[in-house]
Amino acid sequence: MSAKPDFRSLRREEVRAHFAAWGEPAYRADQVYDWLWAKGAQSFDDMSNLPKTLRAKLAEEFEFRPQRIESVQRSSDGTLKNAVRLHDGLVVESVLIPTEKRITACVSSQVGCAMGCAFCATARLKRMRNLEPDEIYDQVRAIHEQGTTEFGRPLTNIVFMGMGEPLMNYKNTLEAIDRITSPKGLGLSPKRITLSTVGLPKMIRKLADDGVKFNLAVSLHSARDEVRAQIMPVNDVAPIAELRSSLEYWYSVTKRKVTFEYVVWRDVNDQPEDVRALVELAKRVPCKVNLIEYNAIGDERFRQAAPEALQDYVDGLARVGVVAKVRHSRGKDIDAACGQLANKKLPAELTSID
Ligand code: SAH
Repeated sequence: MSAKPDFRSLRREEVRAHFAAWGEPAYRADQVYDWLWAKGAQSFDDMSNLPKTLRAKLAEEFEFRPQRIESVQRSSDGTLKNAVRLHDGLVVESVLIPTEKRITACVSSQVGCAMGCAFCATARLKRMRNLEPDEIYDQVRAIHEQGTTEFGRPLTNIVFMGMGEPLMNYKNTLEAIDRITSPKGLGLSPKRITLSTVGLPKMIRKLADDGVKFNLAVSLHSARDEVRAQIMPVNDVAPIAELRSSLEYWYSVTKRKVTFEYVVWRDVNDQPEDVRALVELAKRVPCKVNLIEYNAIGDERFRQAAPEALQDYVDGLARVGVVAKVRHSRGKDIDAACGQLANKKLPAELTSID
């Protein structure tokens, strides 16, 4: 690997400092930053309003390594799944979900994932590394462009529901969101961004303390420790009571409801005591609930529950004034739905820990 630093990992102030040291006027640094994050330049040569000598100097001192969309799979429902090749050869996936009103980008925050949720295909990948802010940003930018070219509409929403646990890559994820929301980047409102987490209480408190303006979703799947611990190892270190108090704190600071993501499986969490536990939690934590359809990943333990079981949840929650919506998955035929991102096209040694 080259020893030159990656230009795109520099913060704005760092670019300015380099330019100052080279005797370049300050506005040049802003021009370059604009090329990087607003115009999506793919090389120094794209930066056509910079003098050639400056472009050459940049190329001499720095590496420029944008990611490449290696393949695009198309679902019959219009969903697109991108395989994104990173500079070091690793691959992550991102998904464009078109609906009547929205173009939503579902993006990855890590290569692989270490959380080990039993029902999720990404958990079968090794966690290789965190994504850099520019690697997260580029997924969003690419989908923004696909929205325009393929559907004639710009990106409207972003969900951090791709590969990885965004709160295990806290700093880089927040920095990417800063660029996405900045008028000098994509200028997207943080209200249109949702970060989904497995539920890490310390980091949820930190989000609240850091004053973030985006939405928070928590993959809950059970409000009972004895059930949740069986399917989500994170529950051993972050049991329901701790998660609950961090979410109470989140609401007290942000005044924004959390969204619980919840799959109902037959014989796992489809009993009246499961509903009761969620209702109790929902009475204390202001929330909405998304009952998401299970996308099979080839594990016999997990089977979608009967529609009546879902209705029990909807009714139970409605009685305490909580809205629960049943969400159907998109992109299932191309393994682009929740929990199905698993780099199926990569060689086995990178993708399997079985
Ligand atoms: N690590 C984050 C981001 C992943 S988001 C998180 O855990 O929230 C992906 C969402 O899909 C999560 O809510 C996850 O619990 C859910 N999910 C995982 N596997 C699934 C599957 N097989 N079917 C349906 N949803 C699944």
